[in-house]
Amino acid sequence: MTDYPPELSAEEQNFIFTELKDWSIAHGLAVRPAPSFVQQSQDPAGVLATTAPVTIFPSLFPRRCFEEGLSIQKAYNELYSAIARDEDWLQGIVEELVHVDDFVAKLWQTHLAVKKTGYVQGLSLGLFRSDYMVHEDPSHSNPAPGLKQVEFNTIASSFGGLSSQVSAMHRYLLNLGAYPSSTSAIIKADALKQSQSTLQLAKGLAAGHKAYGESRCKRSLCVLFVVQDPERNVFDQRHLEYALLEEYGVRSFRLPFGKTLAYTALDEDQTLIYTPPHSPSISYEVTTIYFRAGYSPDDYVKEEDWEARLHLEKSRAIKCPSILTQLAGCKKVQQVLATPHSPHLKRFLPDDAVASRLLKTFAPIYPLDKSDAGKEARKLATDPSSSTRYVLKPQREGGGNNIYRKAIPPFLQKLPETQWPAYILMEMIEPPPLKNAIIRNGVLERGGVICELGVYGVCLWRDGSVSGEEGEILENFEAGYLLRTKGDQSEEGGVAAGFGAVDSCCLV
Ligand code: ADP
Ligand code: MG
Ligand code: MG
Repeated sequence: MTDYPPELSAEEQNFIFTELKDWSIAHGLAVRPAPSFVQQSQDPAGVLATTAPVTIFPSLFPRRCFEEGLSIQKAYNELYSAIARDEDWLQGIVEELVHVDDFVAKLWQTHLAVKKTGYVQGLSLGLFRSDYMVHEDPSHSNPAPGLKQVEFNTIASSFGGLSSQVSAMHRYLLNLGAYPSSTSAIIKADALKQSQSTLQLAKGLAAGHKAYGESRCKRSLCVLFVVQDPERNVFDQRHLEYALLEEYGVRSFRLPFGKTLAYTALDEDQTLIYTPPHSPSISYEVTTIYFRAGYSPDDYVKEEDWEARLHLEKSRAIKCPSILTQLAGCKKVQQVLATPHSPHLKRFLPDDAVASRLLKTFAPIYPLDKSDAGKEARKLATDPSSSTRYVLKPQREGGGNNIYRKAIPPFLQKLPETQWPAYILMEMIEPPPLKNAIIRNGVLERGGVICELGVYGVCLWRDGSVSGEEGEILENFEAGYLLRTKGDQSEEGGVAAGFGAVDSCCLV
């Protein structure tokens, strides 16, 4: 299908563009404009919004891969909730990183500090997203496309709100007859997949809220969204907040991470009390903290921000995610799981049939330490002829942190060898070539693209070590999908980081 999507005449393009820019604003498929696009002096009150980067057409995606990704999400939820409950195992991972990664070290110290006074909440919530690309292995006798996992996100998995909107927008354009008739055999109602991510992620937060139980201090209950400030991707989060209230009757508030200590307090029994600045006479009991900040060292500007994290972690509120769950999302964990013939996957997923389905989605990943595999990887990474097949990743989230292909050897050359184990080396997944058109800041870019499927998952579990009871999973469900699409000239795919666009799947 190399002629998909078709070229548009100037009139067709204008028509779609007008529809798209109005529909997106009318339905909150939007972001706050980048300062490079609208200067602060032009919008001093911060009232402007613009269409989020989106694709004009839904991208083609193999149906079998899509269905497989969604159907293994529950197993991935189970895997990562089991890792998050296995402190000893995680400690082994963290010990390899603490000397080379200050951020991981700080997170671990914060966990230990909470442990000293004692965790008081045994429930833990994960709103996860497992990211994949389609991989075709031409050397294989049957080069059927399969999914390979890019990474597994355990904190601040974003775009669930916008994803539901972009699939609805593509459907609107189809129903309106905006797409050229030559696409009618491809863009069909049953091929377009509506992402249920907004509702499902809100359902997850509502499940945490409900499981928390009654107020301990006769206050109204709320969920707290701990956010960055400023946040351009605010509408993505707003969709979840609105669904939480409208569909589940759960009130939530937004709290910039840097204001945590100013507006929250701990009761003597560690109940987290939020007193909103707009109504200081009313305070709320927080059932669930949903972190949309705190995943990057940039969020911890001053020492007080680490105090704030500790304060939240000590509280009785359910954390989404807890520190241990956040650490389970380290790229190092993914690398250790992907080590061939390792016993780790079996430790967490005893069912061989389930484990083998996940195993099929692992791409080769190597450590850069002094183990035999690490030494081999060091050779591959430092040789300019082989490094072009790899990406080098630190233990970071949020995009823009990786080193790609031929940039790896010079990067490592400048980095003291003692720091190398902070990184993992991953084989590049090479998805089949596709085309699409992306609208960003009102400008249309057309050409070759690379798509990344994200599958959301919700998991709520009880960590037995806190309450002395058996640990158990209380909720586990797949929670919709995200398709992100970037120009094939860009290695990075983050939408918020300015590289990609939100998209939806047209199954083929
Ligand atoms: P982050 O947690 O910062 O999002 P990722 O591991 O998702 O880190 O890497 C960022 C981007 O880099 C991905 O969205 C993807 O576009 C690209 N990328 C990462 N790993 C691979 C890989 N193995 N093959 C191809 N592209 C990759
Ligand atoms: Mg990530
Ligand atoms: Mg990513």
